Formats: sequence, C-alpha cells, structure tokens
Amino acid sequence: MASIEMKNIVKQYGDGFPAVNDVSLDIADGEFMILVGPSGCGKSTLLRMIVGLEDITSGDMVIGGKRVNDLAPRDRNLSMVFQNYALYPHMTVFENIAFPLRLAKMPDDEVRRRVTEASDVLELKEHLERKPANLSGGQRQRVAMGRAIVRQAEAFLFDEPLSNLDAKLRGQMRTEISRLQRRLGITTVYVTHDQTEAMTLGDRVCVLRKGKIQQVASPRELYEQP
Ligand code: ADP
Ligand code: ADP
Repeated sequence: MASIEMKNIVKQYGDGFPAVNDVSLDIADGEFMILVGPSGCGKSTLLRMIVGLEDITSGDMVIGGKRVNDLAPRDRNLSMVFQNYALYPHMTVFENIAFPLRLAKMPDDEVRRRVTEASDVLELKEHLERKPANLSGGQRQRVAMGRAIVRQAEAFLFDEPLSNLDAKLRGQMRTEISRLQRRLGITTVYVTHDQTEAMTLGDRVCVLRKGKIQQVASPRELYEQP
C-alpha cells in the first residue's frame, strides 16, 4: 500500500490548452479517491500519469514517498483495472488471474496459493477452469480485479470500470468493489463520470473541470451542499 501525492501536475498535449492544469492532490494510504467530472476534464490523463503511461509535462508524482516521474509503469507496482477487462480469451480464469505472476516467474505453488486466495475473496472459485467467454460481465470484471490482487500492487486504478455494464450489474459491481476495497484496504483511484458511483464508492471525491481541481470533499460534504 502506498500514498499518492501529486504536486502541481501539468500535462500539455501539443500546444493546446493543458489537459491537466496544476493539479495538487494527496491521496492517503488505503484511501479510496474518486476522480469525477465531465468528459474531457482530464480524468484519464491524470490516471495515466499516476500509472506512468503518460509523461508528466511538469510537477511531481510521489508514490509511497518516492518520486516516480521517471519510472516506467512496470517499476511502479500499481495495478490498472481496464474498462474492457483485457482478459485473454484462450486462457482459463485461473491462468488469466495468474498471468502477472507467470510473467514474474513465480514458483507454481506460490502462484496456486495466491490465485486461490484471490478467487476466494472474489467468489470465483467455481469458475477457475472456465474461459472468459463463458462468464458474465460481472465475473469478468472480478477476474480483472483478481489479476490486480495477486500482484499485491500498492494501489488500484480504475478507469470507468462499470460503464459497459447494464444498470443491475453496475449496482452489484459497485457494492462488490466497495466491499473489496474496504476489505483489502488498498489505496484506490477510481475515475468515473457517474454521479452515483462518485457519491457511493469513495472516501473522498475530487471534482475536475477543464484540467483543474474544482473541489475535493467527502461524498457527504458534496451531498449536503446547497
Ligand atoms: P476525461 O478522461 O476526463 O474524459 P481526458 O484525460 O481523456 O479526459 O482528456 C483531457 C483532454 O486532453 C481532452 O481535451 C482530450 O481531448 C485531450 N487529450 C487526451 N488524450 C490526448 C492525446 N493523446 N493527445 C492529445 N490530446 C489528448
Ligand atoms: P512494453 O514495454 O512491452 O511496451 P508496457 O510499457 O506496455 O510494455 O508495459 C510494461 C509493464 O508495465 C507491463 O509488464 C505491466 O506490468 C506494466 N503496465 C503496463 N501498463 C500498465 C497499466 N495500465 N497498469 C499497470 N501496469 C501496467
């Protein structure tokens, strides 16, 4: 687990208006932070700079007390849960979850132990030998989260993970993500443009507008505003 500190972060694509314009935000160890705002306000860009998939034009990104501006994604030990799940269709659920551990050449028994533990938390135990095509949308989402859990990443990053799901499943997954995050106590940054998600999931909500922070508050404080 790790805190994430952003200091005066700017992202300028080309010579247009900055996509992210002087953002300073501290996310505590174990905190669940929501980034919310209209399309184009810079949410994804900010998330991608945390992960290291996008260069920072200026400012400092500090994760777990360490400046990571120049670190590649693989050296940041964060885990991004993608919107499209990015599962491998030819692999079983077990192998999909195990994938990052296989890459790291972890011994078989340790892989088995970690995947079993994650599938227990995610209630995927009965589905370990299935292929993604035979799973529901919610189950696929959980496999994607399982892959993040087994790596014991320092933080989870979600980019609109529920936007492809129908309303019922979205509700279920909201509950699951929230429960899981609290159980694991892992630092989480969650991008959404959905008000319900913003108001129900996080410890705090950061509202972005045109690349700037408009407000950072608890859902309760936001809700009670006139
Ligand atoms: P959001 O996730 O809030 O919808 P983005 O971070 O995707 O916003 O985009 C913020 C701004 O940066 C938008 O104006 C978008 O057009 C621009 N932008 C995003 N990615 C790129 C890119 N790769 N090249 C140029 N402009 C980009
Ligand atoms: P390549 O060097 O093969 O192009 P990438 O730069 O895409 O690979 O990714 C290198 C490593 O960084 C991957 O093995 C993965 O562990 C990590 N990584 C890449 N993208 C992400 C992401 N969105 N979230 C977390 N880790 C990532």
